[in-house]
Amino acid sequence: MSDIIQLLPDHVANQIAAGEVVQRPASVVKELLENAIDAGASQIQLIIKDAGKTLIQVIDDGVGMSTTDARLCFERHATSKIKSADDLFALHTKGFRGEALASIAAIAHVELKTKPAQEELGNLLKIEGSKVSVQDFTSSPKGTSISVKNLFYNIPARRNFLKSNTVETRHIVDEFQRVVLAHPEIAFSLHHNGNEIFRLPKSNLRKRIVNVFGAKINEKLVPINEETDLISIEGFVAKPQFAKKKRGEQFFFVNHRFVKSPYLHHAVSAAFEGLLETGTHPSYFLYLTVPTQSIDINIHPTKTEIKFDDEKALYAILRATIKHSLGQYNVAPVLDFNRDASLDTPYHFKGKSVTNPKISVDPSYNPFEQKQEQKTGFGYKKEPVQWESLYTNIEEQVEEPNELFASNQHTETGKTLQIQRKYVLSAIKSGVVLIHQHLAHCRILYEQFLTSMTVHEANSQQLLFPLKISFTPIELATLKSVQNDLESSGFTFESFDKEHLTIKGTPPSIKEHEIVTVLEALLESLQQDIPQDGFNPVDVLAKSFAKSLAIKTGVVLTGKEQETLVHDLFACKEPDRAPNGSATFTTLSLEQLDKLFNQ
Ligand code: ADP
Ligand code: MG
Repeated sequence: MSDIIQLLPDHVANQIAAGEVVQRPASVVKELLENAIDAGASQIQLIIKDAGKTLIQVIDDGVGMSTTDARLCFERHATSKIKSADDLFALHTKGFRGEALASIAAIAHVELKTKPAQEELGNLLKIEGSKVSVQDFTSSPKGTSISVKNLFYNIPARRNFLKSNTVETRHIVDEFQRVVLAHPEIAFSLHHNGNEIFRLPKSNLRKRIVNVFGAKINEKLVPINEETDLISIEGFVAKPQFAKKKRGEQFFFVNHRFVKSPYLHHAVSAAFEGLLETGTHPSYFLYLTVPTQSIDINIHPTKTEIKFDDEKALYAILRATIKHSLGQYNVAPVLDFNRDASLDTPYHFKGKSVTNPKISVDPSYNPFEQKQEQKTGFGYKKEPVQWESLYTNIEEQVEEPNELFASNQHTETGKTLQIQRKYVLSAIKSGVVLIHQHLAHCRILYEQFLTSMTVHEANSQQLLFPLKISFTPIELATLKSVQNDLESSGFTFESFDKEHLTIKGTPPSIKEHEIVTVLEALLESLQQDIPQDGFNPVDVLAKSFAKSLAIKTGVVLTGKEQETLVHDLFACKEPDRAPNGSATFTTLSLEQLDKLFNQ
């Protein structure tokens, strides 16, 4: 048999390596930002177009590259950061594999401009699909600018695999945040499609966190500081009462590198034990410094896992330190999570006076009379539908209420009964139906929002005075990315400036005092759930609005409200599921009921 093995040409090997290094635009962002940091930059600009699909550019004022280095940096295994295997155990740089630029240049159009401080002229290099097309001198400032255009231009399968711009931008922002939080001593900016999303001056850690996440976070931060032989820990955790429903702001940095460590995460959660409401997650920004030889960072370039020598000890130290700080800052004693959450006034009913459930029976009630149009407590009306058929024959079967039970009659009509301020029980022809009030209302509102948003006939209710709300730049950018959908839901905007959003009108179902809560909940859904395939902003908006506005568990409903709920639920296209997939109601047939009594 003749020999069949041959060495792969460089550009093919690079393309294969690129498959591992560059999964999406955010991977390029990470590599370029890290190179700029390794180059000792004090100011780094990131410029993105179309979620990085068209352009990713990083400009730094670091050491720059000589003419030879400018050419060499695109070769595989070309690095200035390690010289021997020993160096691997004393890494002080982000990069060391010499793979990133070679990989990126294999799958994009790359333009490099770079100049070391001492040189007169800079170097210009254009390279695409690993082939250098231009190499020249150029005038440029000290430092390096790398533009990566048309990522995956020569691998259509990868390009098509990219997610929507919203999703890819989210990934980029995530990478950006990880890098900027690790390096408050460096100034950063991020522009997307010409809009400035972040401008972060050189600062201390606390200010950096505030600049990234907005002024609101400042009061939530509890400082953490501990120095031991094994490890030094600094940073912040957010006070337990600000824990989030979704895991969002959870950052570990080890020796200035963002890492994921489920083990250390567990240590933090353990420190919060007993202080968090179930289903909420603590936010934290923790910076660990350990001797470089005690960690194994020689991992895959895109991975963020890390291995420590003495994990158990680190766990104990971390947990104890956080517990101590929470105690010291007197956070723990003021907590009162044992109160019944169902007693909180939902914003839907805030400002309204509390009314006792009515016990009286409407003497003029005539079940055979045409149904009057109901004014509901929910602030919406619906066309009557044929749900009444569920109830035919009921009235005939109802016997005179027994005196004993009369006081249990919470409703004016006797058709429905609210149980534990959570369920609505209603008799139907074939048995009973038990409805979960919050989930059912979520379904109703969800379908209403979907309808009005997709047919673009949403009404808008003008506010008396425009409402100016402050958001962080990334929050504003996120809201702007769904501006059209917000408008088709009924929002009207006066302006989006750098830090504020001014709202002129809202969908009629959103009251003025609910706007901030609704938009914050929406941001949480848009930012935390990195949406996957088939991401549809209209759907996310409708779900989020419905969830924020639906009547909560714990709210007492009048008989009319209960009936309207039943009515509107069964008028829905898919009444049996809430938008999150949970069941909205269950039925018990007469046979099932009979069986319970061995009948
Ligand atoms: P690595 O970072 O693992 O060394 P890269 O492919 O990312 O590999 O970069 C190759 C080399 O190019 C680096 O080692 C560095 O010498 C040089 N380089 C890359 N980016 C910059 C930059 N922004 N400024 C100065 N030198 C850079
Ligand atoms: Mg690198």
